[in-house]
Amino acid sequence: MSYEAVIGLEIHAQLLTKTKIFCGCRTDFGAPPNSQVCPVCLGLPGALPVLNHHAVDLAIRIGLALGCTIQPTSIFARKNYFYPDLPKGYQISQYDRPIALDGSLEWRAEGVAHRVSITRAHLEEDAGKSRHDGFTEADTRTGIDFNRSGVPLVEIVTAPDLRSGTEAAAFFSRLRVILVALGVNDGNMEEGSLRCDANVSVRPAGSTALGTKAEVKNLNSFRFLARALDYEIERQMAIVGRGARVIQETRLWDARTGRTESMRSKEEAHDYRYFPEPDLPPLVVSHERIEALRASLPELPDARRARFVTDYGLPEADATALVMLVPGFDEYFETTARATGSARETANTLLGLVRSRMNQDSIQSIGDLRTRLPEDRLAELVVLVESGKVSRPIAREIFDEMFGTGKHAGDIVAAKGLGRIDQDEAIAPIVDQVLAAHADAVASYRAGRTASFGFLVGQVMRTMGGKADPKRVNELLKKELERSGE
Ligand code: ADP
Ligand code: ZN
Ligand code: MG
Repeated sequence: MSYEAVIGLEIHAQLLTKTKIFCGCRTDFGAPPNSQVCPVCLGLPGALPVLNHHAVDLAIRIGLALGCTIQPTSIFARKNYFYPDLPKGYQISQYDRPIALDGSLEWRAEGVAHRVSITRAHLEEDAGKSRHDGFTEADTRTGIDFNRSGVPLVEIVTAPDLRSGTEAAAFFSRLRVILVALGVNDGNMEEGSLRCDANVSVRPAGSTALGTKAEVKNLNSFRFLARALDYEIERQMAIVGRGARVIQETRLWDARTGRTESMRSKEEAHDYRYFPEPDLPPLVVSHERIEALRASLPELPDARRARFVTDYGLPEADATALVMLVPGFDEYFETTARATGSARETANTLLGLVRSRMNQDSIQSIGDLRTRLPEDRLAELVVLVESGKVSRPIAREIFDEMFGTGKHAGDIVAAKGLGRIDQDEAIAPIVDQVLAAHADAVASYRAGRTASFGFLVGQVMRTMGGKADPKRVNELLKKELERSGE
């Protein structure tokens, strides 16, 4: 029998508010431990939560962008469990009446249409964070930093519509780009402001019933998400393949071993004893508020991709890459393209030189890219290439020297004499030299094997350090070969 994988994701996105969801404490990342706390987010007795309506607006934006129905009334509940980083002994979260229901996310990749239903998106507060290092006595004690306690989150829950690790990673990366474009989340998975848990089961192909799932946690990159799911799917397939049963449990991805390991079985899991939060009234949002937020949504990635194709004449694949790869790449592109007046050459440079450098140096955010290479600096290089003043191989050399140094492309060209050479007086002697040195290639060209021509062009270009104008090299070589052949 053949089996298929079934995956549903639960994504926690930290909302970009200045203050927490139920108190006025700040949410700055990296502040000294326990410097952004008050009686409310420390769970001291008698402290009363007051809802941050900016967080509500951001949650509504998420719901709208994902095609959800925004609920006119939603309810906060207490989810009771004990954990050291949860001082109240419960987390305030929306439970059976969340703020957003029933949306979807659709995309096409390599000619295949994908659709994932969004079951719900709800508001909740984050917990604190246990710390095991970075303070005195860390070898004998665990510290708890409550700065994160009460930071607003939206949890987005998908239906079990995903079928592979790759598809789940593609979904998550598209969702991330949408959240960042909405201005509701910074997309930073390393700092934990965007987190993903994956639920996985397998079932006989063609069946519609769901198998027993395992939940995989600790997936803080797209690569890990895909790899953890592939590992987990294979593990479960092996279990059902030998006629055994998958047990319901929570598993942790271990990036070091490349495996998922059992963390706790679901049987031991808590009964959360949810009940409505008595200190908060039902959250009521008016139709007018929802419609005003709908009207204020920014251009979303799908629309932007389409615009890049029509306005800039970019190939579909380039437009998709610019919009979907890294949040903010599209804005970086547009700023640079405006400065160069050449969208095509700008896109080529971004998707070629810039992207490979980002991969090489593990640059994850456009902010990091921008500090190393601001748009106006890159634009100077693109203009030099576009106008034919430097050749493409030389452009790479200039790029490498510009990156992270703050140097101007024009200065590097001048200092190193990297400008393109197109004067015949400079090229012709090299052509003669190459023809003399490669009599075989010349003979074979004359015998009709035109492939030798490319070889000869390559020799001239190489001798001239890539700086010669290839068009002029072609012309001069041709002329010379024909003349001496007479
Ligand atoms: P739980 O009650 O265990 O939290 P939910 O029904 O709330 O489960 O679903 C949580 C997530 O798990 C959702 O993303 C959902 O799509 C996914 N999910 C539920 N059942 C399965 C299953 N059998 N296989 C894979 N994913 C599942
Ligand atoms: Zn507080
Ligand atoms: Mg659930």
